[in-house]
Amino acid sequence: MVPTMGALHEGHLSLVRASKADCDITVAWIYVNPSQFAPHEDLSKYPRTLQADIDKLDSCGTDLVFVPTDAEVYRPGHSTWIEVGTIAEPLEGRCRPGHFRGVATVVLKMLNMVQPDLAYFGQKDFQQAAVIRRTIADLDVPVEIRVCPTIRENDGLAMSSRNVYLSPDARQRAVVLWNGLEIARRMVAAGQRDAAIIVRQMTELVVAAGGEIDYIALVDPNTLAAVTEIAFPTLAALAIKIDGIRLIDNAILEP
Ligand code: AMP
Repeated sequence: MVPTMGALHEGHLSLVRASKADCDITVAWIYVNPSQFAPHEDLSKYPRTLQADIDKLDSCGTDLVFVPTDAEVYRPGHSTWIEVGTIAEPLEGRCRPGHFRGVATVVLKMLNMVQPDLAYFGQKDFQQAAVIRRTIADLDVPVEIRVCPTIRENDGLAMSSRNVYLSPDARQRAVVLWNGLEIARRMVAAGQRDAAIIVRQMTELVVAAGGEIDYIALVDPNTLAAVTEIAFPTLAALAIKIDGIRLIDNAILEP
């Protein structure tokens, strides 16, 4: 199973291809889940391109596409929600309260409806994959999670359904997320181990590009707890608004 919110791009299709390579039957979900959006977020204007999505899934050989309605997913009287705990608290969890409660709940519902052997997620949403791993381990859900690499545009910008919101000028400046990760990687390769110094460099780069910082963080990829020293592979994660469009990206820094 490949869960998505539609507005599909090569990142999503890479998950379908991974599933096709591993599995007999590939089911894609397209569902813009209202419960993971806060009231001020972009639920109503989230890009919806259903026919083009179905054509793309078809051309990749997807066996089944499930496009449920809100009424099918949240039936009358729905009142059960998953509270994920500490892995959901920092980073996206801090900026988007309630987001992972919605994500974990809808993903568990999808897993129960489809009952796949494997489910595919992208590393681009690193914390989301960590939250789902935690949920299925804690609730004994019989599924294997596979996380696939982030697919990028030629200049390094991570593909995202939200990139269509960017004006041509903002699109050019949005490459600063990738440049920030690259500078962090280069600093670590050159021997820098002080997380605060690396974050400061990344911050300067983002500010110079006119980005508004939600967070720039270096964390333990297993716990998502902040690190002060790069002593083991460390996740660099950032969430930046470019002209009000919120973008996220991440990379592992290898000391
Ligand atoms: P979304 O439709 O944005 O909720 O994403 C659905 C799935 O596609 C999630 O598991 C994402 O992590 C994954 N995904 C989104 N963008 C990319 C990308 N650029 N590369 C790889 N996977 C991605």
